[in-house]
Amino acid sequence: MAEPDRGGFAALDPCVHCGFCLPACPTYLATGDEADSPRGRILLMRALERGELPADDPGVEQHLDACLGCRGCEGACPSGVGYGRGLEAARERIATAVGLPAAARVTLGIFARRRWWRPAVTAARWFRETGLARRFRGSSRTGFLFGMLDATAPMSAEAPSRTPRPRTAPRGTVALFRGCVMDGLFGHVHEATRRTLAINGYTVIEVPGQVCCGALHDHAGDRATARELARRNVTAFLGQADFIGVDSAGCGALLKDLDHLLGSAEAAAVARSVRDVTELLAAAGPVVGGPVSVDACYDAPCHLQHAQRVQREPLAVLAAIPGLRVRQLPGADRCCGSAGIYGALHPEMSRAVLDDKIAAVAAAVPRPDVVLTGNPGCLMQIGAGLAAANLPVTVAHPVELLDRSYRAAGWYEPTPPS
Ligand code: SF4
Ligand code: SF4
Repeated sequence: MAEPDRGGFAALDPCVHCGFCLPACPTYLATGDEADSPRGRILLMRALERGELPADDPGVEQHLDACLGCRGCEGACPSGVGYGRGLEAARERIATAVGLPAAARVTLGIFARRRWWRPAVTAARWFRETGLARRFRGSSRTGFLFGMLDATAPMSAEAPSRTPRPRTAPRGTVALFRGCVMDGLFGHVHEATRRTLAINGYTVIEVPGQVCCGALHDHAGDRATARELARRNVTAFLGQADFIGVDSAGCGALLKDLDHLLGSAEAAAVARSVRDVTELLAAAGPVVGGPVSVDACYDAPCHLQHAQRVQREPLAVLAAIPGLRVRQLPGADRCCGSAGIYGALHPEMSRAVLDDKIAAVAAAVPRPDVVLTGNPGCLMQIGAGLAAANLPVTVAHPVELLDRSYRAAGWYEPTPPS
């Protein structure tokens, strides 16, 4: 007789309760409570699957809710436990049984519909451009929100330029995944992505009909909406280009998992073509640019290093910038506490997790000019934390710095008339 389909719970089976994952877990380090550790949560998830604890058990809900979903525990686990898969299954079961908190329902509802999120993020960008977010950023709850918005600004105001000519052999077509927050607040990162990919031989195209990736919905347990958004993206991207280029680690992790979410051949084909922008650039070299004298530290987004296992490529991109001094500070491989809408639902824990990262930047000698990370949530969280601590350190996506290096090389200037 065939085994019953256990969904993602089966991925927890290899756990032998050794505890090697505990020091990698930011929530366990913050509370010291075994139930806030990967090992403790796996016990709760197993009890949930077997029906030994009901889905509306307050303890199960509280401790699984407090998980960042950062998957730092997966990287530390010698047994190959698929913690993320188990967490998805458990959260779906809890969300079905007890529903989502009102704040989560409102936020996820907005991002499920372009006609709602588009005006919301456009208004936020306009507000950012007034300079008021910078003026009112600080360490209070409200000041932190202003800091998050201010951190979405470009690293430096630079004149727009035309798409540059490639400086290497053609490497194929890339459909740019625009996303929602990235599209509304980080348009400058998309532009840097377009230019740097063009220099490295890629032809970047726009794909109409694409929608939010659904990662926020998936992580919160609203898998029905995540699947609906995934279906629309598969329809939009199927057969459009050699690669789908993504400059947001969270979106990229979800898109690489489309076949798991939908289980169709079309979804698998689209998922296979998804690449983080740093993977595309590293595959091309990338082309070395002009000098940029900056002290930077690289902070790896969880959904890039743990979920996508993309670790070397962002550093290869930064190595193509002459004059750039890059370090990885203690705890750079640990979650910043952003984790989608986690910061809105669990602000105290989110800030407690962030504190260690900000303390590492404050203690760094020499102090970096910029923290580089490739995910919008991390940019906003770390940027707000640096502002709250009154540190004169900015945040940027790694492609912004490569873009600056290519600009310094003079490759974006219009060709003088002959
Ligand atoms: S998840 Fe892995 S590291 Fe953590 S207790 Fe289980 S087997 Fe050990
Ligand atoms: S996903 Fe992150 S917060 Fe959750 S148990 Fe694993 S390491 Fe801890």
